[in-house]
Amino acid sequence: MEQLEEKEIIPYDVIVVGAGAAGMMAAGTAARNGKRVLLIEKMEKSGRKVRITGKGRCNVTNARPAEEFASQVRTNAEFFAPAFAEFNNRAAIRFFERAGVKLEIERGERVFPKSGKAWDIATALLEYCFENGVKIIYNTRVTGIMTLGSKVFGVRYINKRGFERKEECPNVIVATGGLSYPATGSTGDGYAFASDLGHSVEPVRPSLTPLVSSHPQIKYLDGLLLRNVRATLWIDDQPVREEFGELGFSQRGIEGAVALRMSRDAVDALIDQRRVKLVVDLKPALTDEVLRERIAREIADMEPTEFFTELL
Ligand SMILES: Cc1cc2nc3c(=O)[nH]c(=O)nc-3n(C[C@H](O)[C@H](O)[C@H](O)COP(=O)(O)OP(=O)(O)OC[C@H]3O[C@@H](n4cnc5c(N)ncnc54)[C@H](O)[C@@H]3O)c2cc1C
Repeated sequence: MEQLEEKEIIPYDVIVVGAGAAGMMAAGTAARNGKRVLLIEKMEKSGRKVRITGKGRCNVTNARPAEEFASQVRTNAEFFAPAFAEFNNRAAIRFFERAGVKLEIERGERVFPKSGKAWDIATALLEYCFENGVKIIYNTRVTGIMTLGSKVFGVRYINKRGFERKEECPNVIVATGGLSYPATGSTGDGYAFASDLGHSVEPVRPSLTPLVSSHPQIKYLDGLLLRNVRATLWIDDQPVREEFGELGFSQRGIEGAVALRMSRDAVDALIDQRRVKLVVDLKPALTDEVLRERIAREIADMEPTEFFTELL
């Protein structure tokens, strides 16, 4: 009887905060399991970040054996173990294919939508919510999680007309994302919620980010994409990490898989005010001797430019 009354007064079993990839998946799954779900999103549409992932193509997952995933998690891998056990890469591939998104596997076993459109992934997640009866409200920013003692009992939010409101609910899932690309809506609100609830929050810092160089000649390399190069990250005159693959140069800095993978170590060292250097071997398969001969031959055939004059 008591439960019945509560159901009548409280319209939702679960409130999910944030309609990014995680929030839509959580909301759709809770609703599929029979829960009445409200999904609250502060932007005007869902999945804004997913729509720009993988240069607009969305690298959905990787097709390598699921057992290899944990070894790619650099810290606190055991935290992810239950998630990987519950829903691994094969499950993700099945999920999107069942939702009608055809996928294909590319170099490095990376999985992308066949259409080449990250939008298809965002749409599939949104449809998963609709099909299972999730109610979604947009332009609505959650400002706090309401608690009584150690129990969560709802959220406070600012609605699209700018009024503060409350919604009571016994279960709240915070899926507000991190801090990168704040224009997509991820402004780190979840860290403040976690901290207000008494969790300790580690300071956040950029990762998988382009590296900005102070080298004066870097400007000449804008637009250059190097394949099959070997880069070594030096910190305080010690080589600490070596990566092989793609390196790109743009106005934003040094990009490409190699630079992005190294960025975490580089950022940590820079925060600690240590000296960071990136050394690139453009032809790792050639010996020094063969390389010198080849450079001499190629330079002899070239028109001298400002760049080469400075370099030489
Ligand atoms: C440029 C770029 C490329 C990427 N490429 C890939 C890729 O190819 N493959 C891959 O797997 N990953 C990629 N990622 C990472 C991937 O985008 C993220 O891991 C993923 O989007 C995280 O999803 P999320 O739902 O946790 O958070 P988000 O996508 O950040 O979603 C959080 C949502 O919460 C909402 N929100 C925040 N605060 C509030 C609030 N107070 N009230 C209501 N709503 C709120 C936000 O508006 C947002 O919609 C890329 C990331 C970037 C930036």
